[in-house]
Amino acid sequence: MYRGTFAIVDLSAIRANVAAIRQRLSRHTHMLVSVKAGGYGHGAVEAAEAALAGGADYLGVASLEEAIALRQGGTEAPILVFGAVSPQAAIDAARYRVDVPLVDDWSQWDIPVYDPPLRVHIKVETGMHRLGLQAPQDVAKLARWLRVRPDIELVGLFTHLASADDADTTPTLLQAERFQAFLAVLEAEQMRPPIVHAANSAGALRFSDLHYNLVRVGISAYGYLPSSDFETDVELRPALNVYSFVTRVATVDAGEPVGYGGAFVTPRPSRIATVPIGYADGFPRWLSNRGTVIVKGKPAPIVGRVCMDQCMVDVTDLDDVAVGDCVTVYGRYAPPEWRADEFVKYDDAGQRKWLVRGFQAYSTRARLLSLDTVAAVGGTISYELMCALSSRVPRIYA
Ligand SMILES: *Cc1c(COP(=O)(O)O)cnc(C)c1O
Repeated sequence: MYRGTFAIVDLSAIRANVAAIRQRLSRHTHMLVSVKAGGYGHGAVEAAEAALAGGADYLGVASLEEAIALRQGGTEAPILVFGAVSPQAAIDAARYRVDVPLVDDWSQWDIPVYDPPLRVHIKVETGMHRLGLQAPQDVAKLARWLRVRPDIELVGLFTHLASADDADTTPTLLQAERFQAFLAVLEAEQMRPPIVHAANSAGALRFSDLHYNLVRVGISAYGYLPSSDFETDVELRPALNVYSFVTRVATVDAGEPVGYGGAFVTPRPSRIATVPIGYADGFPRWLSNRGTVIVKGKPAPIVGRVCMDQCMVDVTDLDDVAVGDCVTVYGRYAPPEWRADEFVKYDDAGQRKWLVRGFQAYSTRARLLSLDTVAAVGGTISYELMCALSSRVPRIYA
């Protein structure tokens, strides 16, 4: 690592978050952790291992590609794909022992024979209008068809909650009521599957009546709440931290434009620091003239437009900012000893060790630049910032 822009992913935080949520579930409730989109940017295989170590017993991903990547990474736990999988693609799902959702009435289609048998969860529509069968009678028909398909194993029934994080619980309770109707139909067919599930993080934390026997937790495993519209007493520790090092500090006269298009003009003689992180790293361009990073424990506003690979911050009001100072982009404030001139003393493996040691010693008492705070600047959510972090940013696991 020469550039000095990196992420520290605190796997012990993921493990602890999963364990803390696991503690709130009944003994009979399975816990699925969502590691889609590369484990919300943290690294799919690493996040999966941390989640399983924390007590998860199921993994969720968006696509069959993501599921196969987990299998190839050595993950043996059950995996459910959330997104639609075609009957043809499901041949490979069966081969990799990956569970798929049935989002349509397959009984009307020409469906291949699966060998080994395919594991399916019927997905039903209860109020999100994204995926799933809409009519309980279609589910009944599908269940009767499944009874004569020994190559397809009915493992689950599920739905997805659209507003479980909302202060208003009415839409969630309506979804639960509709879900119950689907469940009743399967019961009438004597086809109630072993695993019934509806709750995402918000559902898992807020609606214990909607746990059924599996919860699908994503964002909370990474230490954030889905929204600020509800609170929880479950202690969550953010796992994602992103840092960089100042590459230049310059004194700029008053009235000088900074960055592309001169979108910022210095209102006073200023000290402007350059930081090697930009929108190609997933550091959003909408933070131009609006965001804040932390340098030496103090906020430094982003000035001018965020470039593809770099951005500029105003350090006029900070003491003695110099080339090589560490910049906290997201997460726990950087340990004071992190300086680029120390960092470059080591080879790659040595740098990682040095960074991890400093992080572990400092992070538990360090202040936090929350992804929620940064996301709020752009009217978005922590999820989007996590997923945006590009592969160019090396992940260091602590
Ligand atoms: C992403 C996803 C989840 C996890 O949601 P969080 O809000 O991150 O907890 C659960 N279920 C499905 C179907 C999803 O797509």
